[in-house]
Amino acid sequence: MLESMRELDPVAQWLREAQAAVAFTGAGISTESGIPDFRSPGGVWSKSQPVDFEDFLARPAARYEYWRQKAAQHRDFADAQPNRGHYALAKWEQQGRLQGVITQNIDGLHQVAGSRRVWELHGTSRYVSCLSCDSRFDAESMVERFLAQDEPPACSHCGGITKHATISFGQRLPSAVLEESILFSQRSDLFLAIGSSLVVHPAAGLPAIAIQHGARLVIVNRDPTPLDDHADAILRGSIGETLARIDASLDSC
Ligand code: NAD
Repeated sequence: MLESMRELDPVAQWLREAQAAVAFTGAGISTESGIPDFRSPGGVWSKSQPVDFEDFLARPAARYEYWRQKAAQHRDFADAQPNRGHYALAKWEQQGRLQGVITQNIDGLHQVAGSRRVWELHGTSRYVSCLSCDSRFDAESMVERFLAQDEPPACSHCGGITKHATISFGQRLPSAVLEESILFSQRSDLFLAIGSSLVVHPAAGLPAIAIQHGARLVIVNRDPTPLDDHADAILRGSIGETLARIDASLDSC
């Protein structure tokens, strides 16, 4: 197993040879864009408990708390720009080296960086949707409405309950996105798990599916994960720096 920044070249070589490389990203790829992850000190959960979906539907007070938290996080998301890690993945997709990105992130930064094929397992915080009529609204304007009126904004089409287009605890993952993610994980020959603690399921099961089907697994993450023993390489450095150096290695040949 490879375990240091000096060992980037073999990873670049695997990426060069891969026929079906897939990236899987978590909150860690966006910390260098200024968006805190969940589990590191200072992360989102050190400040507030998430509102689960059943509670959100059942109680107006829970809906208020949900919107209060979303409004507080909104600027972190809205002002963030992609970093070297997002740009490297977008470039590899454009070069035909990467099939796409399966992400647990809700920040939309892969698309801003230029990635085209992005499977958002947990939805996106860029939009708010109506739970009754499925209308979609720009998150910015809905957060402004919440802050102006100090109550959750109702759907302007049907008056229904609105919620960010993200998947809360207790809410089902979008089945089409999950099915495609499983399919691409099964078919991958190189699976890059980047910036995820690999503990949130079912998303974190995807690297396991990939290795069961014969893929090489590369983990790029500062902290240990439950799949470290199964990885062909573990790169513990900063994600932006690590992916930029792999990219430089790819360019140098
Ligand atoms: P996590 O918080 O559980 O784990 C993030 C991992 O990234 C940690 O193990 C940490 O060691 C590593 N990390 C952080 N910054 C790093 C850096 N610069 N270089 C190298 N490693 C770094 O994240 P998760 O596994 O994605 O699960 C959390 C859930 O939170 C997901 O479901 C996701 O939807 C959600 N979330 C998303 C965002 C976002 O969209 N940016 C932010 C916070 C949480």
